[in-house]
Amino acid sequence: MKTGVGKKYKILLLNKKPELAQQLQQYLQKDFFIVDRLHHTEQAFPLLANGEYHLLLLSNHLNDMEGVEFLRMIKNQSVTIPCVMAASDCDIQQAVSAMKEGAEDFIQWSDDQEALFSYIAEVLKRVLARCERNDVLAEGEVLYQTLFENIRDAVFLHFLDEKTWLPGTFIEVNQVACHRLGYTKEEFMYLRPQDIDVPGKVNPLAISEELRSQGSAIFKTKHISKDGREIPTEVNARVFEFKGRKAILSVARNITTQQKVLDDLRKSEDRFRSVIDKCIIGICITDEFGNYEFVNEEYCKIFNYSAGELKGKHFTIVIPEKKKKLLSRRHSEFFQNGYVQRQTWDAIGKFGDKKSIIADATLIKDINGRYRRVTFVEDVTEERKAKKALELSEAKYRTMMESLQDPVFISDEEFKIVYSNKAFKKRFGSCEADKKCFELLFGLKSPCPWCMAAKENMSRFRKRQEKTINKRDYQITTVPISYEDDNKAKMTILRDITKEVKARRNAEESDRLKSAFLANISHEIRTPLNAMLGFSNLLKDDQLTRDEAAMYIDMINESGNHLMHVMDDIIEFSFIDSGLVNVHPIEVKTGKLLSDLQNEARLLTEKMNKNHLGLFFENLLPDGLALKTDESRLRQILLNLLSNAVKFTEKGQVHVSVYYNENKWVVFSVKDSGIGIPKKKQGIIFKRFRQVDEGSTRMFGGNGLGLTLCKHLAHMLGGDIKLKSAPCKGSDFQLFIPVQFDESLAQALEVDFVK
Ligand code: ADP
Repeated sequence: MKTGVGKKYKILLLNKKPELAQQLQQYLQKDFFIVDRLHHTEQAFPLLANGEYHLLLLSNHLNDMEGVEFLRMIKNQSVTIPCVMAASDCDIQQAVSAMKEGAEDFIQWSDDQEALFSYIAEVLKRVLARCERNDVLAEGEVLYQTLFENIRDAVFLHFLDEKTWLPGTFIEVNQVACHRLGYTKEEFMYLRPQDIDVPGKVNPLAISEELRSQGSAIFKTKHISKDGREIPTEVNARVFEFKGRKAILSVARNITTQQKVLDDLRKSEDRFRSVIDKCIIGICITDEFGNYEFVNEEYCKIFNYSAGELKGKHFTIVIPEKKKKLLSRRHSEFFQNGYVQRQTWDAIGKFGDKKSIIADATLIKDINGRYRRVTFVEDVTEERKAKKALELSEAKYRTMMESLQDPVFISDEEFKIVYSNKAFKKRFGSCEADKKCFELLFGLKSPCPWCMAAKENMSRFRKRQEKTINKRDYQITTVPISYEDDNKAKMTILRDITKEVKARRNAEESDRLKSAFLANISHEIRTPLNAMLGFSNLLKDDQLTRDEAAMYIDMINESGNHLMHVMDDIIEFSFIDSGLVNVHPIEVKTGKLLSDLQNEARLLTEKMNKNHLGLFFENLLPDGLALKTDESRLRQILLNLLSNAVKFTEKGQVHVSVYYNENKWVVFSVKDSGIGIPKKKQGIIFKRFRQVDEGSTRMFGGNGLGLTLCKHLAHMLGGDIKLKSAPCKGSDFQLFIPVQFDESLAQALEVDFVK
């Protein structure tokens, strides 16, 4: 029977008393009922079968049969309609029978018609309301039954023991349960929940406890089917009242697929985790606040922490104090813009050990849709240390190179100068790009042979040679080196050995000169000795005249003197060399000195057959000037100069003068008009054993020691010897001797000089 809002209920009144029925009809219709009246059952039946009425108000006594009988009849014909039986006092037994047959209620007739009708109306309303509710309930049951059977999960229903809360046997299961576990509904009625669980998978006591305290429980188990298959299952059990007893409705979901997915996921995660863990790069995952959620083994190793020590901590635990703020800020910014620059940072390990790390990061979304920062960390402490050491060492070597006095350069495989030090640049200018060493140093167009040899055989190449560059002598050493990935580079060191070469050349020269001197000296000694031996032999002849003998003796005498002179020079030199010569200053009378020299000059010209030479001696010193010096050394010098002047002058004159010059020196000038001395020889003649003509065919005798001796002696006297000369024009040797005045004389001289 369908009901609806605002709809009036239709009631059929079946009664054998037309008057009473009519009055009741009128009464009820005043209210909200539509009432039809019938007095014969055969008319009533088809109307009821059509379902036109909501309720049947049936009198116990009808015209053709008893009310209960009619009720039974329509029930047998499957006509269902709520029925209220009206019976008189004596028919109470009838009323009970009617109730048994399914009547909803019964009314007892009374004489007070007003009260009776009102009572009937009330009963009818109540019954109609109850029927309507029952209809709803019945529809709900159908709905639940449909759900029960059509749900894709297995559903089990069982009672609970009131005392122990342990489950009883199933009282209902759905088709899915039967299908999944292979039992029929009837078989299930003998099973309890624990009979379909794989033993040990769940703890029935714990579940009972949870149900008791929470009223529901969700747990995972494995159901076992009749044929022994194990089915991973998630059970959602709920306690409810059923037929006045505590029951459990369990919905069991097959989670085989889900479990497999989870297992696969777990396996994949395990694989992923082990890859991450074994990764040689430190990896950490931090939340938006900077707290660690995950750290891999390498990350822990870098900072000496265990994963447990780091988890949940703020990542700045590994950051030095002064950088903590900055990096925390960067971490927050990173969550906003997702950008981070790969950068090297200072970090700090658990034991305060300083680390250098390179960090890089990326933003990921986790399974819950939250953003997480994954940071990749590389420990570059050792590399940094090595690099620093390398930089230091490079700086050290570069400084060494730069402060080296020797020019140094490095050239590459193609001989290009790739590095040159300060000394090199100073000497050879800064190298233009691509300038090759052989071009720059030697002005060559192709590499020198030894550089080529170096290129061929770098590993064993090490070469030293001497070269003159820009008028300076260099010892050039080239060694193979590795330079900025070029393992065929060469380093060349140029040592300036100009001085050494000069000294060596001088030594060689001196060697040569010594040999020349020895030859010379032996000649100088041999000549007079030979003469002495020869003439002394001649003296043995008895036939000699007296004059001849005297001449020979003179010759022997002269040769002896000459020999003595040579020996004197040599001895004098060795004395000077060994510092044994002392100076004894005395007051020298220059006038007397000059007249003595004049006499000597005459003797010399005579001896050398040069009487034709003009000899001039001039004393130009101011009167009263007292020259204080070692007179014998002064004489020795002047005699030597005079002797040379006569010796090297064939015609003209020799002019000896002494004067006082503007620089307050007493100057002795020995000037001749002889052969003169070329400019380039003017220096060397003052060196030991040096002569202008050093050839074997030289015209003039001498040992080359005289002028050297003179120079040394002049220095000893505090003065010097200077020369002005030109070939064929003569020479002027000037001996400078310092002089000390008394005050008055000095003033007089000064005045004189200024005048
Ligand atoms: P020597 O005994 O050879 O003369 P010296 O040292 O006295 O040794 O002189 C060295 C050289 O200097 C001489 O050999 C000569 O060549 C040159 N010389 C010295 N004096 C004169 C001069 N007055 N005129 C030209 N040449 C001179």
